[in-house]
Amino acid sequence: MSEQLIVSGEVARLRESVAALHAELVRYNLVAWTAGNVSARVPGRDLMVIKPSGVSYDDLRPDNMVVCDLDGAVVEGDLSPSSDTAAHAYVYRAMPHVGGVVHTHSGYATAWAARGEAIPCYLTAQADEFGGEIPIGPFALIGGDDIGKGIVATLSGHRSPAVLMRNHGVFTIGSNAKAAVKAAVMCEDVARTAHLARALGQPLPIATEDIDSLYERYQNVYGQSSIPSARR
Ligand SMILES: [Zn+2]
Repeated sequence: MSEQLIVSGEVARLRESVAALHAELVRYNLVAWTAGNVSARVPGRDLMVIKPSGVSYDDLRPDNMVVCDLDGAVVEGDLSPSSDTAAHAYVYRAMPHVGGVVHTHSGYATAWAARGEAIPCYLTAQADEFGGEIPIGPFALIGGDDIGKGIVATLSGHRSPAVLMRNHGVFTIGSNAKAAVKAAVMCEDVARTAHLARALGQPLPIATEDIDSLYERYQNVYGQSSIPSARR
């Protein structure tokens, strides 16, 4: 099979999965109107598949996803890509291990972002998924590379696959788009419970060594060993 055919098969598969993963943002109540977006890197290529700008979630289909290069220029597709394309592209350029990026303004997590407050690790589920606090990134205006730079600067060397960009919302990364969607779902779940706990009083911290051992176990042992994807 020619390289061209292999790439177009891969792009077709990612158009389908990226379109389908947007429905998960709706199912978990992470987005309003047309806000929020999912993208996936085309493995081994300087390309990504991303949501079109301003299209209703009900109308997202594999054929209206947009293929861009990693400078954000459209390579394939009739519609303009998401207004957050520059941020996704910056993350793919700077973090070669990242295969998927998600952005939402999910309510509880974004309420922490509005206060510029990282979510402390009060819950074992947060230690499992995020390995500690969910950090705050800088305030950045949309358009250029500032959002991407803020995401990369905050998440580099951090266990958390989620960052709360100050006064804005959540960006998550993953080895693929599904893992990044999972991180967005879990980030909102943790943000909600931490908010409720804080409203009732002062939540109890978890010792650093316990956070480390929970993270280690969940990342390496948890799940069905015969189905590696079940874990992420
Ligand atoms: Zn946004």
